[in-house]
Amino acid sequence: MNAPQSPDQAKVEQVKLLIDGQWVASSTGEWRDVVNPATQQVLARVPFATVQEVDAAVAAAQRAFVSWRDTPIGARMRIMLKLQALIREHSKRIAQVLSAEQGKTLADAEGDIFRGLEVVEHAASIGTLQMGEFAENVAGGVDTYTLRQPIGVCAGITPFNFPAMIPLWMFPMAIVCGNTFVLKPSEQDPLSTLLLVELALEAGVPPGVLNVVHGGKQVVDAICTHKDIKAISFVGSTEVGTHVYNLASQHGKRVQSMMGAKNHAVVLPDANRTQTVNALVGAAFGAAGQRCMATSVAVLVGKAREWLPDIKAAASKLKVNAGSEPGTDVGPVVSRRAKERVLGLIESGIREGAKLELDGRDVKVPGYEQGNFVGPTLFSGVTTDMQVYTQEIFGPVLVTLEVDTLDEAIALVNANPFGNGTGLFTQSGAAARKFQSEIDVGQVGINIPIPVPVPFFSFTGSRGSKLGDLGPYGKQVVQFYTQTKTVTARWFDDDSVNDGVNTTISLR
Ligand code: NAD
Repeated sequence: MNAPQSPDQAKVEQVKLLIDGQWVASSTGEWRDVVNPATQQVLARVPFATVQEVDAAVAAAQRAFVSWRDTPIGARMRIMLKLQALIREHSKRIAQVLSAEQGKTLADAEGDIFRGLEVVEHAASIGTLQMGEFAENVAGGVDTYTLRQPIGVCAGITPFNFPAMIPLWMFPMAIVCGNTFVLKPSEQDPLSTLLLVELALEAGVPPGVLNVVHGGKQVVDAICTHKDIKAISFVGSTEVGTHVYNLASQHGKRVQSMMGAKNHAVVLPDANRTQTVNALVGAAFGAAGQRCMATSVAVLVGKAREWLPDIKAAASKLKVNAGSEPGTDVGPVVSRRAKERVLGLIESGIREGAKLELDGRDVKVPGYEQGNFVGPTLFSGVTTDMQVYTQEIFGPVLVTLEVDTLDEAIALVNANPFGNGTGLFTQSGAAARKFQSEIDVGQVGINIPIPVPVPFFSFTGSRGSKLGDLGPYGKQVVQFYTQTKTVTARWFDDDSVNDGVNTTISLR
């Protein structure tokens, strides 16, 4: 990561590519600044790699696959065990870099790393996860068994909002299955991702097994169309994810595209009031609303509509400040452009007739006047045709709608174009059971505001939140990163046996 620098950039680190185990300086002419969203300080410059550099990374991965696919499972597992120990050891240091480049609080940055670390821990159990099946005597003296074999060069394209967790959803599981990998981190905050990649090399990932390229559309399109890449895991917005899914599918690749969200929390009046309000406010405004699982819509059912003042009171107490400052609840959004977009959507809510209960547009943060801050913002009286409801805002904005019954709430959630996460708050087991059965959303929380599955289950999604049928971790991802070979075998132990010629399809 310490490339030669031109005099005018002498103090700004130039981010490198990782090709065949070597950190190399890109020869591109196109660079972008990595900016601290609380201060606008330029932390580093990231290259938009050339297509030739993408080709070189894929070629290195293709070469490394020849021996890596046959590396014993125990050796692959031990690398994951070492990697998890290294991530634990360096977690605080990585969290500081992550908080500086992304804006989230230090505690939340550590959470980002920890949720990825859990996937690395799970990768260490690949010995049982990748096992095939065996059936003895499917016909006379015939056995059938399956092998789960790696598929070759795989690639991952990641978003800005979880620069640790999401890369760790991808490369550890892909390579522990025996594949090699090309990672394209978010160009907005690649530095913490690269610290994790450095640790993977230190843990013993051989040259070429894990490669990194940087860039935007051109690099992503080169990955999606590359003849030697077999599978692509994408996480990001619905717009880009749909493009990636279509382009890569047309080029014959397996693709999983985890995309945008509008996550509804449905609140029944029998729920525990204090716990529910706290959960809603934490899930709506934590990480400045920039989580794909953030609660961005509260559906207040029946008398729960009377809880709006409590939500407003709890949200107004949140402390907006730089993520590095102690006691911060809400950090800045990632970029000036993201802030403008959030402000534009708040304006649209006012224009379209929603009631602005809490206005975070003019928040001032002493000492961080240049930061991209938006304070907690709350709308009531929102209807399903307003942009604040139809669009993923990806900022600290919670919109509330009111309905009379659970059936109406379920119909509302199921009619939304996104199906990433949802939550129900209630004390009724019957209501919870009905909700989990009838709701068409990937992650469902029952009195849990952000139900991100632990790594032995799979993250999923429906409708506009996911394309492709297998999720990015858990058992499903082992299927995604392997292909099944089914072997049917007979061994003759006696030359004198003669079954005659069999011209049918039957085994006997
Ligand atoms: P994004 O779609 O802008 O970027 C994602 C990746 O695509 C980045 O690596 C980026 O460089 C690349 N990219 C950007 N524009 C491109 C283009 N035109 N063509 C090809 N590639 C392009 O997403 P983001 O803003 O970084 O992340 C936020 C989004 O990610 C939100 O929509 C959020 O809901 C979603 N997200 C989803 C999940 C999930 O699991 N469903 C998890 C985290 C984030």
